[in-house]
This record gives sequence, C-alpha cells and structure tokens, in this order.
Amino acid sequence: MSDPVGAVPEDAYVDPRAAAVLRRYEAAFAGGAGSRGRAGAAVAGLPIPVERIAEDLLGLEVRESDALGEASGLLVPRERRVWLAGDEPAPRKRFTLAHEIGHWVCQCREGRTQVADVLCREVDLSTDTVTRALEREANIFAAELLMPRAAVRAVWEREQDVAAAAARFAVSDVAMGWRLYALGHVAYKPV
Ligand SMILES: [Zn+2]
Repeated sequence: MSDPVGAVPEDAYVDPRAAAVLRRYEAAFAGGAGSRGRAGAAVAGLPIPVERIAEDLLGLEVRESDALGEASGLLVPRERRVWLAGDEPAPRKRFTLAHEIGHWVCQCREGRTQVADVLCREVDLSTDTVTRALEREANIFAAELLMPRAAVRAVWEREQDVAAAAARFAVSDVAMGWRLYALGHVAYKPV
C-alpha cells in the first residue's frame, strides 16, 4: 500500500488489494479467517457480498440515484458515499459498486476524504491518460473483488458455461466472459 497514488499494478489482472479486502471481510464478518478455506475461494459464499463489504467493512454509504445522467456511479469521498444509477440491472450495479470501492481503496486510501469526487461512466470518453489509468485500475480491482480467481477456477470446472458462471457470481455475462478470458479459462473474448 505504499505505491504512489494512481499507480497501476504491473500485472494487469492481479490486484492484491482486492484479495486483501476479501480477507479482511472474512476475518471480521465471516467467522474468522480460514474457516471457509482460502480467501476468495469461498469467502462468505458466492456471490461476493459487495454491498456489505462497502458498508460494513469500509464504512461507505451506498445509495441509488436517478440523477447521475450518463454516469453509472459516483464516489463522494468526503461523505464516504457511493451513488449508483438506479435504473441499471443488478449485476451492473454490483460491478459499479465494486469499481467505486476500487477508487476508494486504491486511490483514496480509505481515508483521504479530501480528494475530489469521482464520476464514472461505462465508457470513459476522457482522453486524459491519468483518468483512464485510474478507471482501468478500478476495473481491475472490481473484477478481482467480484470474481476471485480461485473461485472462478472452482466454478468454471463445474459449470463450463458463461451464463451459469455469471449467475453464480451475480455479474453480467460480459463481465464473466472477460474474466474467464483474462484468466485463460476460455480462448474467446465475449461478444
Ligand atoms: Zn471510475
């Protein structure tokens, strides 16, 4: 946790901070570390309780709004509050919340509440490379948090079906497809 603000992990598909958050949640709320096996493999069961992680572990208030315009989510660090677009499907809201947690953990360091608000769109049109790097970092964190690699491997060995796996993790088929592709479980990108 000593890397400079905005640093993107060397390995695009590994962010140890997401696994660390899951371990902390498990230790605090799921009967103690180790009781459910390796963190991420079965932490508090699937799907990953992203809203409880935000509220109970990180002390963030999660609310919905119909006034975010084009944005899917908004992090207001000084208020420790996340706004989610109220009209999006539940799997999308879960990914957006995990993404905002990524901004909070990776870039706000869970306490630097004086940093500016972060408004996030599905497709970031910004050409500002710093902004794009921060968005990418938050997306990597979100994928790691919602779809831990050990759990993905275990589910994929049984399901072998993208939609069924997506249902287990309560993510969209597209998010699941990208995760399976990134981890080398499938050879094709989602359409
Ligand atoms: Zn963002």
